Amino acid sequence: MKGRADPEMTSGAPLDAHERRISYLRVSVTDRCNLRCVYCMPQEGIDLVPMEDVLSYEEIRDVVRVAASMGLRRVRLTGGEPLARKGLVDLVGMISALPGIEEVALSTNGIVLARHAESLARAGLSRVNVSLDTLQPERFRSITRGGRLEDVLEGIDAARAAGLTPVKLNVVVMQGMNDDEALDFARSTIDEDWQVRFIELMPFTALENTGQQPAPSVAFVSNGTVRRRIEEALGPLQPESRDGNGPARYYRLPGAKGRIGFISPLTEEGFCGRCNRMRLTATGKLRPCLLTDHEIDLMPSLRGGGGEDGIRRGIVAALASKPDAHHLGDGNRPRRRRMIQIGG
Ligand code: SAM
Ligand code: SF4
Repeated sequence: MKGRADPEMTSGAPLDAHERRISYLRVSVTDRCNLRCVYCMPQEGIDLVPMEDVLSYEEIRDVVRVAASMGLRRVRLTGGEPLARKGLVDLVGMISALPGIEEVALSTNGIVLARHAESLARAGLSRVNVSLDTLQPERFRSITRGGRLEDVLEGIDAARAAGLTPVKLNVVVMQGMNDDEALDFARSTIDEDWQVRFIELMPFTALENTGQQPAPSVAFVSNGTVRRRIEEALGPLQPESRDGNGPARYYRLPGAKGRIGFISPLTEEGFCGRCNRMRLTATGKLRPCLLTDHEIDLMPSLRGGGGEDGIRRGIVAALASKPDAHHLGDGNRPRRRRMIQIGG
């Protein structure tokens, strides 16, 4: 297994047009998923792209190789559900062996993680983030439209046993759906060494091109509210030093083994000023900003003969066109793709 990303290593990462160092690439390997979370995926599913339009693992490796040669150091595999794609362990092996890549991590819903944790770790995966919006089995079934909480908990145990630590749990907080569990999640960090990260719901669900509307029950709660509720019940949270350049602000309950993080894209002033990442969709689109629709298509380079120079030019163009901020407050919305089609 490779070591953790050394902050020193990111100093060689390229700057974008707003002088942010971009050291991190999130790669979506599929738009398929074995769950249907209410805030992410409509019940009837989405129009899936044909497999021939999805990047092969070799094509993903080629993009990451060029990115690494330009100074990007960390990669996260995501989706859709990355473990729903066959052979993901092979991709982890291919990417973690590339010169310059310091860390390969994975975002997963954890449903089949128990089966793969050991081999992922052996292939070079450093750690996992697991989505977990509730600690109640029935509620889990309803939020994910059919998932079994037990499978995820087994996956988390297997990840810890395989050394894929620290495990980070991503909790999207929704009013009336799981916001009453903020305290349970916070308390869980006292005895569990995991990191619970509360994420503000982002406005992906209503897509202009499909007319789909969010489930009426999915409503936003600010992380300020979540934090206030935790502090009122459990006392002041102690700020922790920053963890690399990630989007979370971390805190700890006194004496707790684990940590509590807040990812607040909608309410944290200066959130975008700390952005260090770009995204590659499963169909080969380089997306400078999660919440802005602008994309650079790498397919012509990958399949049309543009080669490594073409990929490099695509990355340079993405760096140059990365917006200073998401501008959701000014009415900007991601309209062309859902989170699941970008790679959350
Ligand atoms: N299937 C994997 C998973 O669930 O972790 C990886 C892909 S999923 C799209 C990545 C992350 O995006 C998850 O933590 C999920 O909760 C989050 N997510 C999806 N839709 C979101 C939204 N509208 N707002 C905030 N987070 C969202
Ligand atoms: Fe699937 Fe992850 Fe979206 Fe849930 S959040 S539907 S697990 S991609």
